[in-house]
Amino acid sequence: MSTHAVLEWRNGLPYSPEFDDVYFSVSPEHPQHGLAETRYVFLQHNHLAERWQQLPTDTASHFVIVETGFGSGLNFLAALKLWRDTAPAHAHLHFVSVEIAPFTLQDLRTAHAHFPELAEASAALCAQYHLLQPGINQLELPSFSASLTLFIGDSAHYLPQLTLKADAWFLDGFAPAKNPQMWQPYLFASMATCAHAGTTFATFTSAGVVKRGLQAAGFAVQKTKGFGNKREMLCGNWPTTTASAINPLPKVAIIGAGIAGCSTANQLTSLGCEVHVFERAAQVATGASGNPRGMLYPRLNAEKPMNDQLAWRSYSYSLRHYAQLNLGDDGFQSVGLLQLGGSPREHKRVQKVAARYEQLGVDTPLLHKMTAAAASECAGVQIGHECLYFPHGAWVNPVRACQQMLKQPKIRLHLAQAVDKLSRISSGWQLFSDSSPLGTFDAVVVCNAAEAAALIPESGMWLNPVRGQMGVIAAQPAMQPLRTILCGDGYLTPAHQGTHAMGATFAPGETDTSVRAEDSEQNLHMVSTLSPQFGPVAHTAVISARASLRCGSPDYLPYVGPLLPLQDLMDSHASVNSFADLPAAQGLYVHAAHGSKGLMTAPYCAAILARRMLQDFGHTLPQLSEDTFWLGLHPQRLLFKQA
Ligand code: SAM
Repeated sequence: MSTHAVLEWRNGLPYSPEFDDVYFSVSPEHPQHGLAETRYVFLQHNHLAERWQQLPTDTASHFVIVETGFGSGLNFLAALKLWRDTAPAHAHLHFVSVEIAPFTLQDLRTAHAHFPELAEASAALCAQYHLLQPGINQLELPSFSASLTLFIGDSAHYLPQLTLKADAWFLDGFAPAKNPQMWQPYLFASMATCAHAGTTFATFTSAGVVKRGLQAAGFAVQKTKGFGNKREMLCGNWPTTTASAINPLPKVAIIGAGIAGCSTANQLTSLGCEVHVFERAAQVATGASGNPRGMLYPRLNAEKPMNDQLAWRSYSYSLRHYAQLNLGDDGFQSVGLLQLGGSPREHKRVQKVAARYEQLGVDTPLLHKMTAAAASECAGVQIGHECLYFPHGAWVNPVRACQQMLKQPKIRLHLAQAVDKLSRISSGWQLFSDSSPLGTFDAVVVCNAAEAAALIPESGMWLNPVRGQMGVIAAQPAMQPLRTILCGDGYLTPAHQGTHAMGATFAPGETDTSVRAEDSEQNLHMVSTLSPQFGPVAHTAVISARASLRCGSPDYLPYVGPLLPLQDLMDSHASVNSFADLPAAQGLYVHAAHGSKGLMTAPYCAAILARRMLQDFGHTLPQLSEDTFWLGLHPQRLLFKQA
């Protein structure tokens, strides 16, 4: 497990024995002292209330705060409340923080109990503050029009990688004398890299090393009266007078209303974009995203780091995301999932994956290995072999999730509207259906799975269709006690409203989507092998079955990113080792090929894609993917390797 903060509670206040310092102070006479200090030092001396009141009211805008040391999240909550009280409705707050030793959720709640006026902000944060892992964690708080990008690890590692433009800095590591590691030249250099006209900073300390570091990096630094009985503090700004122009947000067309399209629309609109979703069918989620239930868990192999990393990041992101969509008991249930190690191959996988990942997770593990006896206890039915247990594993109703993600004022859904041609024009992209123009957009995201091949034939993408059939069966007495999802060669969910979902067959290259009796037989046989107590399930138990095509790629990673003209790509470089080697994006993007994992990977990929797209349109927001990771998802990556 990653280390979380080991706290001592002194008179109810969090104290760090490691750094010999307090996170905030409160006294019986001044119970709100810590909050008052936060407001004085960080909010007031970055002039946030005034700046937020002046943000445009008629158009979307973004404000980026970067903090060093998330700790109890008190600064974040105070900023969130002020944001709600002062910022206009269309503005989005991006709060980026770095924390080497995060609080556990329980400690966070205990610390927040001191500040009843922050209760609503605390509840929003705590609802998202779980499944944290080292590296980037993205927590969305749509009820506050805000997001928190929390880097778990050393600030010396993460701050120099930031590519955003910060509007304000909260410098809040422990005191420089007690924590010199946090106040090194890399901090000031990172601040300068992320500075633009209008960047401000504030810090509780007035230490000479901080003042000199900031000045050497190019900031104008002011010493001013500290809070309470503290003599002095520092604040200041980046001394440039030429304000950069505010770029308009792109108007985006999305083609396809499956899980990839709906997630992309949802992310772009949450960042303020106007989005039009075009769907050939008369309803959303009619392809592979139309199954009544889909499973959420990372299928890991401990051999392909990029695939596993995507799986982990997507797993925690999508669990938080679906929980927040309020899909109801019929839409989302995090009931836990057991991945069974039945065959010798699966047994080996259980051992490898557990050895590699059992320590992942900040205060609770994201997976553990379980003996057959423990797994039987956990599942409520007999399990014959060792397993991997994912305590948060879940099932989702994908149709409901897709519908919910599109319920946004800035999303226009065009059903029964097939797009059959895309034309590049000087102001962006024009879409056509049967030679009739459908509109002009600054950017287009192609999210129609295997159908993308017809729309963008010159893409250089290999799209592999895979037929899969799942089914719904009537609740069986032998399965009645089942409490968790079971996954072996297929899956079975616990009974919900008198039915279980089972699936799915896997037939690469097959494109027929008619329901087949033999596929149902295959699923029923698979189910009967999941527990020795199940026995054969009669064909008459099948209530319904559904076959669809998933679309995958040869390396089992999705295609997410800009689509570049093949000739430009070939002309650009002999080999592409970094993003800088690629030609500039031209407003055409792909989001496809999630295979059978789209429910889990699409929301996270949509989140990183949306921020990268806005960057292409001149909005330097916090990014959720390192350049190497982003390059690893590129729709034309298989061409780079050939180059
Ligand atoms: N801003 C916090 C709040 O609102 O509660 C208080 C921050 S506390 C004074 C300082 C934090 O910096 C601690 O949580 C500590 O674990 C973190 N920290 C110290 N050194 C760090 C480092 N090198 N990288 C990242 N975080 C660090």
